[in-house]
Amino acid sequence: MSNGLAEILKMALMKHKGLFELLESHGKFLLDTNCQSCNGLLDHGCIALMTSRTAIETMLEELAPNLWEDDLDRLVDFGHLISPELELKVLPTLMHGEAVNIDMAYMTYVSNDRGFLTTAERNRIIQRMKNLELPVWHHDFSLNPVKISLNERLKHSEGLQRMPLPTGVGTAEIFNDIDDEVLERAFKKWCEDLCTEE
Ligand SMILES: [Zn+2]
Repeated sequence: MSNGLAEILKMALMKHKGLFELLESHGKFLLDTNCQSCNGLLDHGCIALMTSRTAIETMLEELAPNLWEDDLDRLVDFGHLISPELELKVLPTLMHGEAVNIDMAYMTYVSNDRGFLTTAERNRIIQRMKNLELPVWHHDFSLNPVKISLNERLKHSEGLQRMPLPTGVGTAEIFNDIDDEVLERAFKKWCEDLCTEE
């Protein structure tokens, strides 16, 4: 369940503060009930249904107009820039959503380092990940795979980073100018804060 909720959290972070708040207030309930219970009704419906419906809608908003990926600036790529390299390295010990979450946790630090996210927002996001029982750090996610992945990305995205980063809780933008200094500083801080969380 946590693995699946990671992709829902991705859409919440990129596009939908309300969805993030839903995960904040009811994430534990969704986990405990495997998203199968309509107990804990909100005024306007079932939490599990609302969560999955909102996640699907936000995903469709992004995917439907760009079916052939003519536009390579894709918010849905959040969490999927470095995670493929990590997945290759550590499969089958890590599930897809878990690898995605580790990528998102690091990128949250990148965003904070650049000043797009406040430290309070960064901590709020990391706390939400932990409460959804998702890993926020992995010892095989070193700076080397980060740089390899981002160099690969340049090759496949017409020479631009096209890095989706949160610019608040539920808002995001695509950036092309995240330099090595930022990546390294964010990596150091991320390790300092979270390496004991594995
Ligand atoms: Zn994915």
